[in-house]
Amino acid sequence: MSQRILIVEDERKLAALVQDYLHQSGFETRIVTEGLEALPAFRQFVPDLVLLDLMLPGRDGMDICRDIRSSSQTPIIMVTARVEEIDRLLGLELGADDYVCKPFSPREVVARVKAVLRRGGGKSEHQSAGLQLDEQGYKALLNGKDLGLTAVEFKLLRQLVAHPGRIFSRSQLMDRIYPDERIVSDRTIDSHIKKLRKRIEAVDSESELIHSVYGVGYKFEHRD
Ligand code: CA
Repeated sequence: MSQRILIVEDERKLAALVQDYLHQSGFETRIVTEGLEALPAFRQFVPDLVLLDLMLPGRDGMDICRDIRSSSQTPIIMVTARVEEIDRLLGLELGADDYVCKPFSPREVVARVKAVLRRGGGKSEHQSAGLQLDEQGYKALLNGKDLGLTAVEFKLLRQLVAHPGRIFSRSQLMDRIYPDERIVSDRTIDSHIKKLRKRIEAVDSESELIHSVYGVGYKFEHRD
């Protein structure tokens, strides 16, 4: 049975374009262009994933995301027109699984949809990337080889890996890694990320696991 995607998007042409691409990839879809119709459509269509635009007539994407989350863990990908909005959305902890910024290529959206759905079952994303975390020993192994991480690098990696595809801003990472020190600068996170990537590269030069999201922050994602 094909998986179902609910597309909540008021730009009809864009919705139809995304729908075409999703159909080509074997998904079943339904389009909703009005915010107030989103929840009834969600209940009736029972999608496997919701592609949710932020700015909608009737009820906005944030409220719809909360409505859905109050009763369901169905994956949600939020769509926004501005990269700056992602930072604000992250701060609101809406419980969305991923964020896509407009303008996007429909191919990219399909890839994200597949990635988010893949996380739903079976192996976790970091396991399929060949990564193992040893919580007690503060050790991370990639393809069985110890990455030799410092405690801070381990905590960073653990935080990102726990939420594959989710973008963390630098300040969110700082809060989680240095809960009692607020004097650490944004640059500190950047430099730890840089070192973390180097250690991953040293073990597997093909492995790109930590991704920067321009102007926003970082995320863990295994792309194959
Ligand atoms: Ca819109």
